[in-house]
Amino acid sequence: MTTTLPTIQHLINGQLVSGGSRSADVFNPATGQVEKQVLLADKLTVERAIISAQAAFPAWRNTPPLKRARVMSKLKELLEQHADELCALITAEHGKVLSDALGELQRGIENVEYASYAPELLKGEHSKNVGPAIDSWSEFQALGVTAGITPFNFPAMVPLWMWPMAVACGNTFVLKPSERDPSSTLRVAELALQAGLPPGVLNVVHGDKEAVDTLLQDPRVKAVSFVGSTPIAEYIYAEGCKHGKRVQALGGAKNHAVLMPDADIGNAVNALMGAAFGSCGERCMAIPLVVAVGDDTAEAVIAGLKTEIAKMKVGPGTDASSDMGPLVTKAHFEKVKTYVDQGVKEGATLLVDGRGVQVAGHAAGYFMGPCLFDHVKPGMTIYQEEIFGPVLGVVRVKTLQEAMDLIDAHEYGNGTCIFTRDGEAARYFTDNIQVGMVGVNVPLPVPVAYHSFGGWKRSLFGDLHAYGPDAVRFYTKRKTITQRWPSAGVREGTVFSFPSSR
Ligand code: NAD
Repeated sequence: MTTTLPTIQHLINGQLVSGGSRSADVFNPATGQVEKQVLLADKLTVERAIISAQAAFPAWRNTPPLKRARVMSKLKELLEQHADELCALITAEHGKVLSDALGELQRGIENVEYASYAPELLKGEHSKNVGPAIDSWSEFQALGVTAGITPFNFPAMVPLWMWPMAVACGNTFVLKPSERDPSSTLRVAELALQAGLPPGVLNVVHGDKEAVDTLLQDPRVKAVSFVGSTPIAEYIYAEGCKHGKRVQALGGAKNHAVLMPDADIGNAVNALMGAAFGSCGERCMAIPLVVAVGDDTAEAVIAGLKTEIAKMKVGPGTDASSDMGPLVTKAHFEKVKTYVDQGVKEGATLLVDGRGVQVAGHAAGYFMGPCLFDHVKPGMTIYQEEIFGPVLGVVRVKTLQEAMDLIDAHEYGNGTCIFTRDGEAARYFTDNIQVGMVGVNVPLPVPVAYHSFGGWKRSLFGDLHAYGPDAVRFYTKRKTITQRWPSAGVREGTVFSFPSSR
């Protein structure tokens, strides 16, 4: 059967090109229809992208940082001008509601804006007279070809966590976006060309494991940034390190919100609704677990959540009245449904069941309504594993310490938050909890672009967090130069002792 569907191509050396004999379907999750085909790059195609990035590196590395930064400023403008178009692409392939797509894009743009401060960020360190007439300085040099592999859940934002800082620091880049929703990622890269990024500085190859493995194994790729699920993150980290690369691999999460008895329950309920069900729960910073301290707190939050859930509207992301769109694929829908079945089997109390939700005119869409469990306990599958769907579980504990011990014992340590009016409890929590990103009365403590993003434990493999100041260190190598110019005609004796400041 010949297909008339549009094909999403690779972007190599500034050109949209074919490459690879395989392709995958790209669905609209609100209708369940295949809308496009995306090419899946083979090894040769990825190597073409690497060669193009390598060829572009010498000139780009030597381009003054201010000129590189100006491309980022121009890109920011273009992204703002094309926001509606980009959000439509995100919603069509991911399913999230348009206002949420705009939020993601805005957060991505903030990373582009930060990258436009590159000249300031790359200034280095200088010490005069480290010895008699000796000066020393450290500069931060670009690595060469760098690569990024990104997940489906933020097709615009997560790639913008990576490549703008990488290229602003003088590197070139090969990006492998999620094959499930690649159109907005590709469109952003086209806008970067329009903003003045020279061909080859940013290349986009679509694909799956074959493309990823090529990036991990090719010696010309010096560093790899990854965001996705923990099993793949762990694999990327091990495989990339084995091949001598610098790797940062951000993985999955199971974020707990602690609700103290003194919290403003009304505000906490509103915050939890967005954090649990926004983007259908498909966020690595989503809150799938509320740990209520005391039974009265649990009863109060459940009552509030039930009231708010009853008001929620599930529908296509393109409908401005929808609060929550569909899940990303049929397979993911089935997986989330199985988790809910499992929660019931393992003895949690299902208070709100979203499994049978129907959206008029969208019978084949991957819609699931919000689900609310009570009496979720450690050891249950729905407690331990990342569901990545609209499923919120309430865990009951007696003390703050018990809540914190639970969080610390969990394998993930991406985000967490505490709702309280007690400053002492909040300070104890932020000081001691074993999690990388912590909120106090802030449910989604996603760091702004001038801080860095990363979890602890099995939510991040590597040393440096994503974007912000850590990105300058990740995408550059420190070189320290020590310099002296002896006065003409002065002969100096040989010294065999180790040089020191005397
Ligand atoms: P995923 O791990 O399935 O895919 C991520 C990327 O890896 C994609 O580009 C995919 O093509 C590639 N990939 C998949 N299988 C591979 C394999 N076997 N070998 C090599 N590459 C492979 O993740 P996803 O489903 O796209 O995204 C959701 C996950 O991402 C969730 O676990 C979520 O928590 C996580 N996530 C984490 C963060 C964070 O910052 N920690 C942010 C967003 C998403």
